[in-house]
Amino acid sequence: MAFKPANNIQDLQYFGEFGGVNPSISDSSTYTFLSAKTMFDTFEGNADGCYLYSRHSTPSNLYLGEALAAMEGTETANVTASGMGAITPVIMQLCGAGDHVVSSRTIYGGTYAFLKNFAPRFNVSTSFVDITKLDVVEAAITSHTKVLYCESVSNPLLEVADIAGLAKLAKQYNLKLVVDNTFSPLSISPAQLGADVVIHSLTKFINGSSDTVGGVICGTQEFINDLRNVNDGACMLLGSTMDSLRAASVLKNLRTLHIRMQQHSVNATYLAEKFQKLGLKTVYPGLASHPSHTLFKNMMNNKYGFGGMLTIDVGSLDKANALMELMQERNLGYLAVSLGFYKTLFSAPGSSTSSEIPEEEQAEMGLSDGLIRFSIGLDADIERTFKLMKACMIDLEILKPELV
Ligand SMILES: *Cc1c(COP(=O)(O)O)cnc(C)c1O
Repeated sequence: MAFKPANNIQDLQYFGEFGGVNPSISDSSTYTFLSAKTMFDTFEGNADGCYLYSRHSTPSNLYLGEALAAMEGTETANVTASGMGAITPVIMQLCGAGDHVVSSRTIYGGTYAFLKNFAPRFNVSTSFVDITKLDVVEAAITSHTKVLYCESVSNPLLEVADIAGLAKLAKQYNLKLVVDNTFSPLSISPAQLGADVVIHSLTKFINGSSDTVGGVICGTQEFINDLRNVNDGACMLLGSTMDSLRAASVLKNLRTLHIRMQQHSVNATYLAEKFQKLGLKTVYPGLASHPSHTLFKNMMNNKYGFGGMLTIDVGSLDKANALMELMQERNLGYLAVSLGFYKTLFSAPGSSTSSEIPEEEQAEMGLSDGLIRFSIGLDADIERTFKLMKACMIDLEILKPELV
């Protein structure tokens, strides 16, 4: 039977203290114990179901974590204060001094900066490779490698990782495969394909209302316990904990994720097909022209489509900037980083979210100046949006009117 991530979320019932249809929010940083012995046992990690202190865990965070674990099909999960607050403790938990990471070279700018500039301070080194080539990935593995790191659908180039293939390599070399699934919640279920740890920035599609940052680490009970360990757990000790009030609000938004993802995908598919027909260089995993279209198709949970992210290349940064400003002026979306909002968001990654990546490396990986990344919104009338976007491109002579 096919994996049903949305059903898994919806089947979870959490009632509030007074029979509320939403769980009560635990508005406390600390918890009383009826006996001193139980407090000691809890510190030792031997008192299941007891809460200690809210940096460790809270009822509200556990509800959200359980729902996200159900979505990914992992044993459990730990929510964090941001996506980076999920990624950094995972790397620090899995790697010590002298260890090595093999990472996709097209990843979120902050992750890239962490692996490239920060982790080496702790003598953790990273080789950045073309993740779509399994032989290149394998060749980068050394006797010190501990982690294979990638995004299911990469930011901003929308490269697709062969998760099952990578999982096989990880198994063969005794590595942990860590997958950031931020761009493709519900569509792709990395743990079902063999990933050991699945991470999300909840800031994006999952929360979907651009009102908070948040993150999650989905994995085995053993790994999540390790992260929370009071003596040497990276989540516990680095302290990037989500607040309970926020966990409760993200959980409410998660309940409608399946409907939003379907609409993001329908709208993005429509625009990608139209943009491509106009002769614009368009990248979208749902287009047959995408180099990994078939791979995505084979991995995906069909219902949720190919996601809300697409890119076009309009030739130069000046043109990209002019187009984004004009589209914003005409209320077609916002010139903003981030993704997964009800409104379309666009930015030029080379000069914003991926500016951490040096220019020559950007060129090598195909991240050109004129690239615009779109997070397509929930527009009720996407045909109208397309017509108005096309008009912007004609007005700016990105499109020649006689050709369209
Ligand atoms: C935004 C993002 C992150 C970082 O998440 P924050 O919530 O901003 O810390 C990590 N990975 C991907 C793919 C992202 O888009």
